[in-house]
Amino acid sequence: PVAGSADRLPKSSIPGVKKVIAVGSGKGGVGKSTVASNLAVALAKTGARVGLCDCDLYGPSIAHMFGTTERPFQNEEQQIVPIEKYGIQLMSMGFLLEDDAAVIVRGPIATKYTQQFLRQCAWDNLDYLIIDLPPGTGDIQLTIVQTVALDGAVIVTTPQEVALIDARKAVSMFQKVNVPILGIIENMSYFLCPSDGQIYHIFGKGGGEHEAKRLSVPLLGQIPIEMTVREAGDEGHPIALEDVTDSAASAAFLGIATQ
Ligand code: ADP
Repeated sequence: PVAGSADRLPKSSIPGVKKVIAVGSGKGGVGKSTVASNLAVALAKTGARVGLCDCDLYGPSIAHMFGTTERPFQNEEQQIVPIEKYGIQLMSMGFLLEDDAAVIVRGPIATKYTQQFLRQCAWDNLDYLIIDLPPGTGDIQLTIVQTVALDGAVIVTTPQEVALIDARKAVSMFQKVNVPILGIIENMSYFLCPSDGQIYHIFGKGGGEHEAKRLSVPLLGQIPIEMTVREAGDEGHPIALEDVTDSAASAAFLGIATQ
């Protein structure tokens, strides 16, 4: 499929899911998977039924971030039954791979695999399915945005210009296929230093806000850099599970989920 004909491809919904939201980024390492995980947790905190699907075939990380080594099983209808952790239904391409398996598949196979993967899961009555896309705007991302009926997309960026340039590419990919951009989430926005109480804008200041204005989309939230965000991710217990009074990042995620 070529990008030019993208908006004419038939899009199908995912069985068992009311709203599908994609989380994308132009660049790797901006915290897309961290944001997707915590957004899922924060939405569940508001009482919604939430699923999270990691479509990063080449670098799946959701299983790690949720601290699970469980593997899904197939039901009688040959569907893959998602794992449940912290009340969230989880699927990850990582579940289907051995830990150190190098995934060397070429584009066409990867897109076919992703398509099957999304539709063969037995999602159980979800209000929201969050799809953690691979970074960038390559084949897999295109397939998903072209063929899945997405209700919206959220773009994750850091405040610095190089990340914003790539974020613009992700925005235009979604716009090309008429997926509404729900807004921008600026991650690693600032660091509140515990020793001197000062705020440091390590990756620059105001980039997300500026970009949101330029694109006329909301800036959904600004997530601070916190050591506990990284630790929580590494320990398999997303920061949004913490009380909002204990973590500004947890509060920021809940703020986004309640919009
Ligand atoms: P991406 O999915 O964009 O490649 P990740 O979500 O894997 O990025 O994040 C990259 C690393 O940065 C991870 O170790 C993660 O824990 C860390 N990280 C992400 N966001 C934050 C944050 N707000 N504060 C501290 N560490 C963060």
